[in-house]
Amino acid sequence: MDCLFCKIINGDIPAEIVYQDDDLLGFKDVNPQAPTHILFIPKIHIATVNDLTAETIALVGKLYLAAKEVAADKGFAEQGYRLVMNCNEGAGQTVFHIHLHMLAGRTFHWPPG
Ligand code: 5GP
Ligand code: ZN
Repeated sequence: MDCLFCKIINGDIPAEIVYQDDDLLGFKDVNPQAPTHILFIPKIHIATVNDLTAETIALVGKLYLAAKEVAADKGFAEQGYRLVMNCNEGAGQTVFHIHLHMLAGRTFHWPPG
């Protein structure tokens, strides 16, 4: 399978890993949109949020737990941070392996662009 994030999981493509456990990987986004921009991904390939099932949905909760732990470790819990998952091209998804963006270190506006 030609999936960029599966290649990062396999070690075929390097990444700055900031979080790892049995199920997940967290690494710095190569094109950061905030002073801190980390992507949290499941180690199994799931293309989009549309592909989540009752069997895989617990991984999404784990993504959030990992993100809030890293956010707290980095001192962003109080000031806040943004967690985003884009689903499909219309929402800006460009890598088709689900990922939770954790953006922090600046002010975020709403609605997003
Ligand atoms: P999406 O647009 O799918 O929601 O987010 C994909 C993210 O992956 C983008 O923010 C993009 O900068 C990041 N990205 C794309 N290629 C690479 C890569 O090779 N390494 C890392 N660390 N991030 C990547
Ligand atoms: Zn993948």
